[in-house]
Amino acid sequence: MTVPITWPGGKRFAFSVFDDTDLSAPGNFEAIYDLLGSLGFRTTKSVWPATGEDLQPRGPHGSTCDDAEYLQTVLRLQKSGFEIGYHNSYFEGLPRARVEEALDRFRFLFGNYPSSMANHAESGEGMYWGYDRVSGVPKALYRTIMRRFGANPHCGHIPGSPHFWGDLCLQRIRYVRNFVFGEIDTLSACPMMPYYDPARPYVHAWYAASNAQILPTCLKLLSERNQDRLEESGGACIVYTHFGSGFQEGHKVDERFERLMRRIARKEGWFVPVTTLLDHISSTRGLVTLTATQRRRLEWRWFAHKLVAGRT
Ligand SMILES: [Zn+2]
Repeated sequence: MTVPITWPGGKRFAFSVFDDTDLSAPGNFEAIYDLLGSLGFRTTKSVWPATGEDLQPRGPHGSTCDDAEYLQTVLRLQKSGFEIGYHNSYFEGLPRARVEEALDRFRFLFGNYPSSMANHAESGEGMYWGYDRVSGVPKALYRTIMRRFGANPHCGHIPGSPHFWGDLCLQRIRYVRNFVFGEIDTLSACPMMPYYDPARPYVHAWYAASNAQILPTCLKLLSERNQDRLEESGGACIVYTHFGSGFQEGHKVDERFERLMRRIARKEGWFVPVTTLLDHISSTRGLVTLTATQRRRLEWRWFAHKLVAGRT
């Protein structure tokens, strides 16, 4: 079984956020990060680093790193200790050469290749995404329920596809998110994370997250009861969310979200970026290689959550 994890500095639990960049644009996310920063949180904010005049730097999907005003804020966040993560190169899948260029641009802008990423749901670059997130029976059921009978449109991991970049992902990115669960303690839902899955060899290691996709889901996940539960369990929470989806109105952070974040900030938690958290776990016990039994359990568990929660 997996080795129990303790947290640095005698902290009682760990807490992080991977913020998918969709919808984030100047004016709708800065106050969230001001609040998180002032409360001592250092979490992970993702970006789309693809560049080119044919791409939209700011639009209904959100901003890319070609939006100078947005980029300035992201660089400021990085300087103050937030991690910058990767959310595929852009909101639509780009060809391999442009994915490679986007990763190089990420390194140019932020000093390193991204160490953590999450697939953007609609991207053709998705790494083992769509029905390839799961195997065997859950995969067959997923395809039937979602009516996805054709070829997988997410083909970052499929050699020969124009979007294939699996080799680059393996070389350059340490942690990729797959499963999302309803429990606040992500580590108890997925005790083997970060793990290597031999059935998905283009990913160095996978992590899971807790579902807080939009504001109402986030308020539910971070309820007082759940916060206390996380503290008691001594586990780790990695929140999956979109801070650009209405957490901030004008310059003001949603009051309910602010109250909950202030409350958890008063607890003895380790509030670090996703990569710091996962590095700590893997340096404590090494990287777990997923067994077929563990994979089956994890996939069924996710599938059950997905039936209830919808898009995760
Ligand atoms: Zn996304």
